Amino acid sequence: MSFSIVTASWFRFIFPLGLMLLVAFGQDNVNSVILANQSISLTLPYVLFAACVILGHVFKQSRCAMIACAMLLSYWVIQNYLQASLSTGTTLLELSLLAFALPGACLAIYLFKDNTIRSRSFFGYLFLLVLFVLWSQLALRYAAESGFDLANYPLLHVEKQISRLPMVIVLYLTAIVLSCAILVLRYNRIVDAAVYSSILLGSATFVFFHINYVSSALFSLAGLLLLIYLLSASYELAFTDRLTGIPGRLALESDLKHLGRKYSIAMLDIDHFKSFNDTYGHDTGDDVLKLVASKLRRVRGGARVYRYGGEEFTVLFKGKLAEDAFEHLEELRRDIADYELTIRDVTERPRSNRKGSKKRGKAKEKNTVSLTISIGLADSYDEKNTQKIIKSADQALYEAKGNGRNCTVAARELTKDFKGNCAKYIE
Ligand code: GH3
Ligand code: MG
Ligand code: MG
Repeated sequence: MSFSIVTASWFRFIFPLGLMLLVAFGQDNVNSVILANQSISLTLPYVLFAACVILGHVFKQSRCAMIACAMLLSYWVIQNYLQASLSTGTTLLELSLLAFALPGACLAIYLFKDNTIRSRSFFGYLFLLVLFVLWSQLALRYAAESGFDLANYPLLHVEKQISRLPMVIVLYLTAIVLSCAILVLRYNRIVDAAVYSSILLGSATFVFFHINYVSSALFSLAGLLLLIYLLSASYELAFTDRLTGIPGRLALESDLKHLGRKYSIAMLDIDHFKSFNDTYGHDTGDDVLKLVASKLRRVRGGARVYRYGGEEFTVLFKGKLAEDAFEHLEELRRDIADYELTIRDVTERPRSNRKGSKKRGKAKEKNTVSLTISIGLADSYDEKNTQKIIKSADQALYEAKGNGRNCTVAARELTKDFKGNCAKYIE
């Protein structure tokens, strides 16, 4: 799962684009399939988006369900109001308004958190969509009454060879699609991929609206992609540790099956974490786990990091033996040891709530503490059994604890010299 190509950010960027180009190049074939099954093809986007709303509820991915609602509403508007020629009445203006509103409606999901669709946030989003619709109705009525004509506004110039939409809207859509692509490449979250693919395919529909059956082809594709993202989001949820957001034990067990011949495994454990919890409280302990996870994410050398359980983490280096992984782990260990954690002075926290609220009002007493980790490292140099390698890493971690903690111990003597740090080796 974690090493998979399909979850890579570049793949999530390319995939919808590639499928869209495939539809564009096979346009004649797509059109003949749609013509032969017209009623099914025109209904397909409704079915797919409705399925997304239901799955969004089941998997508590209400933000994907929100996108599905916005797409479903747009498709309904296209099928019921925009089938007339773009040069008659207010059709072009209606299309321009929809092209302007849909990306906004998709981006608005970032204002909410994921939940079921029976949540207040989901109903809040539906209310927002209703506001969008009312605003469009008002704008259209005003345009009809005042005899609004796009041709009178130089800013709304249309370049017919490119699109029937005003160029300013084409540029607006391009800018939003590019921004969403950057989000996918930068953060690689499923929700970014869902927003990106929906806005990309919605925008392409609006820009090339004059092409026959473009809306049912591209909206069906958008529905299909949204379904895929929803399913992969539920799959990813099972593989991700809730507290720290990094992959959990299940992901580790899955990745251990695809390691190849050369790899290193490091087991990490926070030192004296029990007494840290006892002194500063469980919530601060949780914050520390998140902090360590965020530092782990930055380990270089192609490392994959996992929460093994409790205050223990695992780092996998695929294609690297201990000699090459060691320095990256040492960098992490030093980074965590040098980090000064700022903590509110909980030892002086008043017992009564009333006193507490008085004190919280004025006191901003802060305390800095530092934290250390111990690391045990083993590799596939002279052992092929993964479970045995994990055991060796665990034993090396035990040695690190015995050697006074805050150090990295390799399970075998390393061929490179790592003098100058606190490395210790098991002979
Ligand atoms: P050592 O240096 O030998 O590792 O000592 P330690 O105190 O870190 O080791 P020990 O295994 O005795 O304690 C682990 C502690 O980690 C106990 C438990 O309270 C804490 N812990 C485990 N999971 C969580 C969690 O999810 N959140 C918080 N806050 N604490 C946790
Ligand atoms: Mg432990
Ligand atoms: Mg510990």
